[in-house]
Amino acid sequence: MTPPQKSTKIVVTIGPATETEEVIEQLILAGMNVARFNTKHGTPEWHHDRIMRVKAVAQRLNTPVAILIDLQGPEIRIQTPGEQPVEIVEDEHITFSVTQSGDEKTIIIPQEVIDAEQEGNTLIIDDGLGEFVIVGKESDALIVEAKNTCSIGHRKSLNTPGVVINMPPLVAQDYVHLDAATNDIVEFVGLSFVRNAQDVHNLREELKKRNLDADVVAKIENQAALDNLDEIVKAADVVMIARGDLGVEVPYEELTHWQKTIVTLCREQAKPVITATQMLKSMVNFPYPSRAEVSDVANAVYDGTDAVMLSDETTIGKYPVKAVAAQAKIVAYNEQFAKPPAILSPDIDVSHWVTHAASMLLKTSSDPSKSLVINRVVCFSETGATAKQLMRFRQIREIDVVTDSQLTYNQLSIVYGVRPWMMSLENENLSNTDSVVSQLTNLGIVKSGEVVLLIHGSHWKQPGLTNVLKIVTIP
Ligand code: PGA
Ligand code: MN
Repeated sequence: MTPPQKSTKIVVTIGPATETEEVIEQLILAGMNVARFNTKHGTPEWHHDRIMRVKAVAQRLNTPVAILIDLQGPEIRIQTPGEQPVEIVEDEHITFSVTQSGDEKTIIIPQEVIDAEQEGNTLIIDDGLGEFVIVGKESDALIVEAKNTCSIGHRKSLNTPGVVINMPPLVAQDYVHLDAATNDIVEFVGLSFVRNAQDVHNLREELKKRNLDADVVAKIENQAALDNLDEIVKAADVVMIARGDLGVEVPYEELTHWQKTIVTLCREQAKPVITATQMLKSMVNFPYPSRAEVSDVANAVYDGTDAVMLSDETTIGKYPVKAVAAQAKIVAYNEQFAKPPAILSPDIDVSHWVTHAASMLLKTSSDPSKSLVINRVVCFSETGATAKQLMRFRQIREIDVVTDSQLTYNQLSIVYGVRPWMMSLENENLSNTDSVVSQLTNLGIVKSGEVVLLIHGSHWKQPGLTNVLKIVTIP
């Protein structure tokens, strides 16, 4: 079995349901392109062991799979008395405080939340399971009224819709996970609850201090990030629409609007974008997706997302491999018809004008009334930027990208339509088309009779100098 033909990439969160090599192999064969490790749970050792398993299986299958380490960031978690669930009745008044008062219903929250909040605001626990309105404030406590009857568990998440909490962008445990990361196993680092470009720059500094080359994935999950969306997308390498938290941090009726806005902005700036969370949530318990979920996955493709993601479906779900296979089938089918909105104001770096020209050419070649037929597009890229620049226009559904950088090879796992190839290009003279073509033929990238568009620089190893477009008929 080989991984399915699809252009949209799949990010799979690894957890207890998917931690063995056998299951990891099935996930890759079903269509996983990026394995995500959520450091909110598990020790660095736990994650390291599973990362090594993913890398080993990917190597055995000769398939690129990137690793995304997702840091917790300033996510807020509550504590309950004796770590026991607290039973709350609608309209009941309870205390959210920094210290336990002896009251069996006092829930512990950080002081920073109390400082930032005021009467009339709403607090949400456990993804919307419990909703509370603040009816009183003291220096170290909030008195809240429960809007519904619920059972609140220890260490559940707390969301503060519309309110920015003054917390550091990374927590102590995040530094522990960064210290444990190395270049051979980590391609992406996720930044949770990013608030502005400065948060992204800060993480980049931390990566640099540790000589890590990983790309930064900015997770858009609250109002502060939406307020500073443009600068965050510019600062980040990849963006995640983190709908789990975003859907409670902003009124949920706004979610679809923001999803489309973020995807468009990312395409304008040629930043790969992941649509995340609850895409196939019912498959945590059932082997078949709900019709709304099928539609959600398909619509992300129509929006122009690069990747779709699975979380609970694959960490604790009963049908993790079926969930990946379902996403793969849904995206593959819909890619045939999806025409994501045209990018009206693309950012075009001068060093990439050739990529823009290639996209115009491919638009013409996709018109059946014109006689120009291009069967395949191959680019040579040190950083992968050419592929991101080109694929955002969605004129084609696949591109073969040849690189000699292991990091680029793996990082391209997140970009729509990219099939990455590793090839030693050290002594390759790209202006010698015959030699390049014979190499591509030997690797099985191109076949005799195909009309191929080649995109590359005149000087290999000089990123940003992609300036050659060649149409070659393979002999
Ligand atoms: P999380 O991020 O799973 O780390 O919370 C994704 C989301 O909030 O959607
Ligand atoms: Mn989140």
